[in-house]
Formats: sequence, structure tokens, C-alpha cells
Amino acid sequence: MRIDLHTHSTVSDGTESPAELVQAADAAGLDVVAITDHDATAGWDEATLAANGLGIGLVRGMEVSCRTDTGISVHVLSYLHDPAHPALVAEIQRSRDARLTRAERMVEKLSADYPISWPHVLEHVADGATIGRPHIADTLVALKVVADRSEAFEQILTSRSRYWVSHYAPHPAEAVALVRAAGGVPVFAHPVASARGRTVGGDVMGQMIDAGLLGLEVDHRDNPEQGRVELRAIAARDGLLVTGSSDYHGTGKPNRLGENLTTPETLARIEELATGVPVVR
Ligand code: AMP
Ligand code: FE
Ligand code: FE
Ligand code: ZN
Repeated sequence: MRIDLHTHSTVSDGTESPAELVQAADAAGLDVVAITDHDATAGWDEATLAANGLGIGLVRGMEVSCRTDTGISVHVLSYLHDPAHPALVAEIQRSRDARLTRAERMVEKLSADYPISWPHVLEHVADGATIGRPHIADTLVALKVVADRSEAFEQILTSRSRYWVSHYAPHPAEAVALVRAAGGVPVFAHPVASARGRTVGGDVMGQMIDAGLLGLEVDHRDNPEQGRVELRAIAARDGLLVTGSSDYHGTGKPNRLGENLTTPETLARIEELATGVPVVR
């Protein structure tokens, strides 16, 4: 069984539609794929139709953007939650609104030095998608300012850049509690991905566990090996599930479908623990 529990479509910053994403997962030989767009579940229905047609398993999920009191960005994966849970929906909408304002402000700053405009950026965002820096990156690629998204992030869009603007996002412990309230299974995404920026210590991890965290995404290309060893120890100590995933973004990132996998036993536990929606089979 090949199970990949973390991928993105054009509903956030992936480059394939939800149906294309599920087709790609099937073509890559996966038995089960999760669709986990940033702060959005708008791809679930299309992905479900595609999965039913192909006979591949689909875990409906989402990746919740979070921020700590000291400004550290944290991502929490939610699996199989109720997509209509009012408090979770409200919180996600607040983040999405903040992302829009933030992207406009970043583009305004960038326009002082690059021939970039807001309407041009919007051409790179699918209708209703969660907007993020990758869409600004795609616009800079189209303008031939940089060759690809990676170069855009390294040279222009890092959180250390002068064009960087922050945006509202819930505290990770709050997100974990909301996901649980919505019947979902919260898993801390790429917890030690230090190349992306600062990562949290035991204090925030402890708050997340106290709030009901159920798993750690250990096998992810951005987690260094030593960090994975430490994460496995934490998972064993606190009874957390361990997942492995690709974080596929289509052509937006080098990550390939199935490059890291989750065991069938762990998926079975996720199914048992969730009360929002079932796995599509
Ligand atoms: P944002 O949420 O708008 O701050 O943008 C963060 C998103 O950018 C993450 O979800 C990543 O998928 C993407 N990202 C971060 N670094 C890179 C990179 N070096 N290359 C491509 N995408 C990246
Ligand atoms: Fe992303
Ligand atoms: Fe992430
Ligand atoms: Zn992701």
C-alpha cells in the first residue's frame, strides 16, 4: 500500500487542478492520496469525483497556516474534519482574508523595484484559491525576473526579505483544538523544516499536544535526519502517530508524489480517530 498524505492543488499553491492531482497520484502508483490545500477544502468535491472514477483512495484534508506569539510559521495538517464546522470555517476565512491583503501589500512593495502589478498576480491565481507567495513567485517567473519558484523564494520572497509582509494566522494550539472540535485528526506538518525559517521548540509542541495533537509528519524532505530521530522519540513518548508525505505541489516544487509514505496501520488509526468525513474509497 502506497499512501501519501500531503499534496496541493490549484485550490492553493499546487499547479494541478484537484482532478489532475488525483490522476497524477493514480499514475504515480499511489493507493491512497490526501488533498491538503492551504486553508481550503474547495477541492474536495472535484477530487472525490476523480477518485471515485479511478478507484484510488482519497483522504480529504487541509493544511492550516498558523503563527506563534513570536512570529514562527507553523503548519497543521487536518484530516477528515467536517468542512462546515462553523468555528473552523470562520478561522480559515479570517486567514484567507488576511492572506489577500498581505499579498497585495507585498506586491505593492515589489512594484517599486519590479514591473509587477496586482492584476498580473491575479492571473496566476485560480478562482477562489488561497493566495500565497507562490503565486507572486509565478508572476516573477512569468516576468522573467527569476527562473522558477525556488529562485523567487531564495532571492526575493524569503521571510527575511524587505518585501515580506506577515499575515494573521491562528496559534497552532488553537488550530489543533479547532480541528479536533471539527472531528478532524491534526498532524504537525514538517515540524523541523528549519530551511523554511524558524521552527518551534518543546514549549509550543507541548501546547499543541495539550490541545489534542494526534500526529507528527516525520518523513518529509524538509525535516533533517537528526530532527526526524528526535521527532520519533517524541511520538513514542507521547503516543503520537507518525506520518510520511511528499508535500507535492505539481511543477511548483521538486517534491514528487510518493517520495515519502505513511503506513496502512497509521492511516487506519487516522480513520478510527476522525469523526468528520470518511475516507473516499
Ligand atoms: P505563504 O503561505 O504565502 O507564506 O507561502 C508559503 C508557501 O510557499 C508554502 O506553502 C510553500 O509551499 C511555498 N514555498 C516555500 N518555499 C518555497 C520554495 N523554495 N520553492 C517553492 N515553493 C516554496
Ligand atoms: Fe504550499
Ligand atoms: Fe506546509
Ligand atoms: Zn504543504
